[in-house]
Amino acid sequence: RMDINFSTATFKDFENIPGFDMMQRADIYYDFIEYMKTNGHRYRLQNNTGCSSVMNIGEDDAIKEMVSFVTSDYLGLTQHPKVKQAAIEGIKEFGAGSAATPLIGGYYSYHNELETKIASFFGRSKDEAVTFTTGYTANSATLQILLQKEDIAIIDMAVHASVYEGCILTNRKTFPHNDLEALEHILKTSEQQYRTKLVVIDGVYSQDGDTAPIEEIYNLVKKYNAYLMIDDVHGVGILGKTGRGTIEDTGLLDKIDIITGTFSKTFGNVGGYVIANKTLTNFIRFQSRQQIFSATIPPGTAAGTIKAIDLIDEEPQLRTKLWENINYFKKGLDDMGLETGTTCSAVVPVKIGDPHITMDVGKMLLDRGVYTNPIMYPAVARKDARIRMSVTASHEIEHLDKTLNAFDDINKKLHIAKK
Ligand code: PMP
Repeated sequence: RMDINFSTATFKDFENIPGFDMMQRADIYYDFIEYMKTNGHRYRLQNNTGCSSVMNIGEDDAIKEMVSFVTSDYLGLTQHPKVKQAAIEGIKEFGAGSAATPLIGGYYSYHNELETKIASFFGRSKDEAVTFTTGYTANSATLQILLQKEDIAIIDMAVHASVYEGCILTNRKTFPHNDLEALEHILKTSEQQYRTKLVVIDGVYSQDGDTAPIEEIYNLVKKYNAYLMIDDVHGVGILGKTGRGTIEDTGLLDKIDIITGTFSKTFGNVGGYVIANKTLTNFIRFQSRQQIFSATIPPGTAAGTIKAIDLIDEEPQLRTKLWENINYFKKGLDDMGLETGTTCSAVVPVKIGDPHITMDVGKMLLDRGVYTNPIMYPAVARKDARIRMSVTASHEIEHLDKTLNAFDDINKKLHIAKK
């Protein structure tokens, strides 16, 4: 009844199927998920343990203990006793939910404290932070309210989906990943045509784990009277001399027009933030629809996050352990000739290329007790499928060795090494 081959389809193929109404499309998609299940493809795995380097994965009688590389709990703060205790205290004090939007009673003292803390964490005490319920919303809401029809977002093509979503109603041009010449060309040709020009990049890119050339991009942005927004969710707590992220060592932390991020990765909780000068945050705070019409972060989560931010400075040994793990693991993969690309963060891909082989590798890793994410189009280009792993401070050498051995074994069977 339609032209979709389930065995080669990607999730993108189901977004719209011309000629089929919403119920028909949902029916077709239902069949696709059933096909995935009955053919042994992974579509979602249940976690029965909480974030950790070892998790019990699966459902009912098929639960299995796995070494896990699928969470962004880079410093292990979701399980840190002090973070948990702070969250418990927050709930005891203010209850489970915030039950209101910020403007009508949902803005608690914890939100105020959290906003002050995250702004000063980045050395931006003179500026201000606005928090959102997720990092996704922080990005999309900020772009939606700041950019109108006369404006343009100029974005690196590898930025997160939330940035793309934020640009749906404005003009948008993408430049090839980290391509400074292409960016300059767009800036030059946009100078007269658009009112506001906002360049949006990530600090660390989520699928390759590589970083943006921030200083060069900053200089171009200034040269062409544009503004710069950086989402550094995979850099904060990991990169930079004191863990302030990708921007820290460039010395530009207080010069970037807008910094956005999440509390759901290194900070081990949930929520998003935007940091900018006070007039801009004031505008976002009182004008963005997601601030006006959507509830705030629950108080316990805000309290847990405040403690997590403190721990970046109080327990730098977590970052040291994380880097020991990253370096050990990446060296092990590289020594086998596997292609880890340009990563310089805790996101470590093993690039395979072919999506079907990548799925097979993902499954073989599961069979060997290693839980990773096979990533394919549309998250990455069609021929650039890979196994994506996030290394954390909670991994022990034995977990990394087990995984390296599994890769070695699979490589002998499937010859996935590129070098
Ligand atoms: N930006 C990037 C680069 C991300 O990887 C993510 C999470 N996948 C987000 C933003 C969204 O963060 P959150 O999970 O808090 O919505």
